[in-house]
Amino acid sequence: MTGPLNRLGQRALDIARQLTLPLFPAEPAPGAGVTPEGITPTPAVPPPPGGRTPRGTGRARRQVRLGNDEVDYELRRSARRTIGFVIDDRGLTVTAPRWVTLAEIELALHEKSGWIARKRTEWREHAERRERLAIRWDDGAPVPVLGDTLTLVILDGSPGRVRRDGTRLLVPPGPRGDPSTRDRVQPWLKEQARNYFAARIPVYAARLGRTPSSWTLSSARTRWGTCTADGAIRLNWRLVHFPPPIVDYVIAHELAHLCELNHGPRFWAQVRSLYPDCEAARQWLRAYPDDLTD
Ligand SMILES: [Zn+2]
Repeated sequence: MTGPLNRLGQRALDIARQLTLPLFPAEPAPGAGVTPEGITPTPAVPPPPGGRTPRGTGRARRQVRLGNDEVDYELRRSARRTIGFVIDDRGLTVTAPRWVTLAEIELALHEKSGWIARKRTEWREHAERRERLAIRWDDGAPVPVLGDTLTLVILDGSPGRVRRDGTRLLVPPGPRGDPSTRDRVQPWLKEQARNYFAARIPVYAARLGRTPSSWTLSSARTRWGTCTADGAIRLNWRLVHFPPPIVDYVIAHELAHLCELNHGPRFWAQVRSLYPDCEAARQWLRAYPDDLTD
């Protein structure tokens, strides 16, 4: 029987089964709120016999000294039985049972201080990489495009289209209003991405002997590409900032999912058959910030 509900169910299944190529393979996306270790719990803290007065409710900002670091954190009280720690782009969040005292929470923080210091360093390095690689969108700024470094040239005078002239990326005033340089250039970058994908997908599809049912550009913040169970591929337009071999690896990776919708040994053998130097490309992508900004 096939009805709308069944089709919806199938769609949900497809979405659940779609495989993503995360931007930061070793780590979940920033903002996802969970570190590789996830929430690191302490042993359960049972409420004391006879009950103890709740020590706090809701949320509060607090500070603790761990080694040489003053660490800010958000303390959330909850009905859980353990003290949990999460570090993400917003910093450290501690979730604790309502009956646990601040002294007990600080003791748990000291016990986890090594992990906290390591995660804080990772996030700081991530923010620095992101800052270093973000495009400035000023006149004269470098804009990496498929292996070339173009120089942004912001023009005065009559309105016109964004266009490339050798290694210069010319940005005349817009036809109306005053959208930012970024908003003027992004459609041009997306067009370059689309053209490149359109040229390269058939090359790898021919090598593989399979063609995606469709492919589209994505603007995802946390993944370079996805492939769904029904063979639809999405590729992040921000790949346009990378050298062609890296973009090709992502294309080969997603196409290989048409045969193997998993990341098992047969999948990687398939990727290598399409793109032999995939290890180098994976290393390269790992060094890249996972949330390339505009
Ligand atoms: Zn994958």
